[in-house]
Amino acid sequence: MNQPVRKALAATGWLFLLFFSLSASTPAEHGVFLQEVGVIILDPGHGGSDPGAVGTLRTAEGSQTIFEKDINLSVALQIAERLAAACPDTDIILTRKDDSAVSLQQRTHIANAAEVGEGKSKIFVSIHANSIGGAGADAVYGYELWQRFRSQRYDFLSAAIPETAVEKRVALTNAELNREFDRADELLSESLLMALDASLSHKTKSRGIKEAGFYVLMHSYMPSVLVEMGFMSNESELVKLTDPGYQEVLAESIVRGLLFYCSLLQNSQ
Ligand SMILES: [Zn+2]
Repeated sequence: MNQPVRKALAATGWLFLLFFSLSASTPAEHGVFLQEVGVIILDPGHGGSDPGAVGTLRTAEGSQTIFEKDINLSVALQIAERLAAACPDTDIILTRKDDSAVSLQQRTHIANAAEVGEGKSKIFVSIHANSIGGAGADAVYGYELWQRFRSQRYDFLSAAIPETAVEKRVALTNAELNREFDRADELLSESLLMALDASLSHKTKSRGIKEAGFYVLMHSYMPSVLVEMGFMSNESELVKLTDPGYQEVLAESIVRGLLFYCSLLQNSQ
C-alpha cells in the first residue's frame, strides 16, 4: 500500500471516530447543521472586474498573465458537474457560473437564501488560489483550507440570522446550535483535507486547516470552508494550477471530500 493511500485510510478511520464520538455524546443535537446534505453552494472566488491573484506564466512564446478568477471558475464548474452526477438528489448552486462580478454580500445571500428541504442541511464551499509577495515568496507553495474563527458565536435565534438560514423550529438552545455548527465545520474541513492529502500531498505541500475571518465564511450561516488550491506566486505551482489535468485532480479530490462528508451525515440518520 503506498504512502498516500495508507495516510488516507488512517485519516478516514480517524474521521469516523471523530464523527461517532460526536454523535454518541450528543445524539439530540443533530437538529440543523449535521443533517443529511440537501444543498451544496459552490463559490468560485472573485470574477468580473476582480481578477483575484494575478500570476505570470512563462511560456515558449513569452509570458502569459493568469487570473485567479479563471482558475477558480474552471475548478468549481468541474466540481459542480461531478457532484451533479454523483448525487442527483442534492441541489448544487454556484454563486457564479461565468466571469461575472459577484460581491461578497451577494455570495452569502445566495447561500443563506437557498431553500433546503426539511431535515436536510446546506454547506458552503469557496474555491480560491493563493498568492504571496515579498522576499522568499517563491518558496511558499501548497494547498490549505480555511475555516471561520472557531471563537465566533452566533445568535442563531435572533432576527439577525435570516429565517431560511437556520431552522428555528428545532428545540435547541443557541449554545447547542453553536456547538453543532462548530462540529459540522470541523468535519467538513477535515473531510476535504483528507481527500486532498490522499491525492495531492505527494505532488505539493499540505498546509492543513487554518482559521480566518473571511467574509464568506463568517456570514454564511451553514458549515463552510474556503479552499486555497495552491500558490500562484510560486512558478511551478502556477504551472500546475493552469494545467487541465491538475485542475481535474483538484476537482476530483474536493468532490471526494464532499461526498465523504455527505456520507458521514447520511449514515448518522
Ligand atoms: Zn482568492
